[in-house]
Amino acid sequence: MTEAAKLTMIVAGGGIGGLSAALGLANKGCTVTVLEQAPQFGEIGAGIQIGPNAFHAMDYLGVGPAGRGRAVYIDKLVMMDGVSGDLVAEMPVDEPFRARFGNPYAVIHRADLHGVLLDACRAHANITMLTNQRVVAYETTASGATVITEAGERYSADGVIGADGVRSKIREQLTGGDQLRLSGHVAYRAVLPIELMPEDLRWNAATLWAGPKCHMVHYPLQGWKTFNVVATFQTDVSNVGVNEPGTREEILGRFGDIVPKARKLLEKPTEWRRWVLGDREPIENWTDGRVTLLGDAAHPTHQYFAQGACMALEDSVCLADKIERFEGDLAAAFAAYQEERIVRAYRVVLSSRMLGKIYHAQGVERKIRNSVLGAKTPEEFYNGLQWLYGGTGLSARTV
Ligand SMILES: Cc1cc2nc3c(=O)[nH]c(=O)nc-3n(C[C@H](O)[C@H](O)[C@H](O)COP(=O)(O)OP(=O)(O)OC[C@H]3O[C@@H](n4cnc5c(N)ncnc54)[C@H](O)[C@@H]3O)c2cc1C
Repeated sequence: MTEAAKLTMIVAGGGIGGLSAALGLANKGCTVTVLEQAPQFGEIGAGIQIGPNAFHAMDYLGVGPAGRGRAVYIDKLVMMDGVSGDLVAEMPVDEPFRARFGNPYAVIHRADLHGVLLDACRAHANITMLTNQRVVAYETTASGATVITEAGERYSADGVIGADGVRSKIREQLTGGDQLRLSGHVAYRAVLPIELMPEDLRWNAATLWAGPKCHMVHYPLQGWKTFNVVATFQTDVSNVGVNEPGTREEILGRFGDIVPKARKLLEKPTEWRRWVLGDREPIENWTDGRVTLLGDAAHPTHQYFAQGACMALEDSVCLADKIERFEGDLAAAFAAYQEERIVRAYRVVLSSRMLGKIYHAQGVERKIRNSVLGAKTPEEFYNGLQWLYGGTGLSARTV
């Protein structure tokens, strides 16, 4: 038995980050307990885009084929000018893209991605999965760590991974309570049956309509049975919550400057859910003794780069790799893990903020955006994304 395999680990949170972390650690032989606050493991009903780097990570975790089996393979990423209705730019993600980056760019229902990880965790002899366990605090000593749940239960192990999302309790304690940075951006989400999707928008693409202080995204899901629709706008409303019902009237009102061809899509969903969006300022330490952070708990980001979940998957690969490489020495493994991940994950966080500005540009900025992006060749787009999708990224190097 390796030293890594002797470790017991607790993962707080059973989202994409927590389950992939559990899988990565269990594959190295660790005995892992996942504590999830919800009564069931699951994901919200919405889509997600996943880049080649996420597939590299899934391959490392042993779930690449299952993930690929549930994905939809789009032809390109498209940006439309929502004001004029003109094409701004498109980036093909066809065979040359796949050949260059070694894996596809795809879209997938979140429940399918989460389900692939869930199936693998449930089938793994080293993983125990517990629900209704809301972690509220931790204690760390020289030889181990303990988490305490809301119900007062205590779970102890050699190490703890805080994968409890954007409002992480583990992070709150670890940092002394750094503030969520609310940007005033609100996302409305819906999943539309294909028959409700306007025929002239049934494109095999991840399409983004960029408008003044707003943008919307659509792409096919679930073997083309549904379409994912996300409409985001900037607002000064401060009372928007998380995963709450949204109204068609509000969303239509926010997209008044968008061409009818795109705007009419917003009339179609019978049910909208809305989220206030936020991220956090980068921090230089994710670790307190035998406790470290992963996924949104470590580096919550706006969705504009479509990379938050991809980064959580990559974190899990890196963490598992370091635990094995440092032969179970958690202090050394956590230090090396955060050293590698901080630059890459926060590059995504800061790039996402910048992309938000680009998507929501108006006036002269809009014209500059259209001119710069419209002049780019596929090769130029690929070169710009090499750091993320290509062999220089952490997960690709680790894999
Ligand atoms: C509108 C939108 C679109 C997005 N699109 C994309 C995209 O296209 N591509 C992409 O890669 N990313 C995307 N993201 C980002 C992605 O959703 C997140 O980065 C990813 O889900 C983070 O996973 P996580 O497991 O770290 O956190 P979460 O998904 O938040 O999971 C945390 C888990 O921990 C549980 N939990 C929380 N608190 C506790 C506690 N105290 N104790 C125990 N359990 C707890 C929660 O119930 C949950 O199960 C998008 C995000 C948004 C908002």
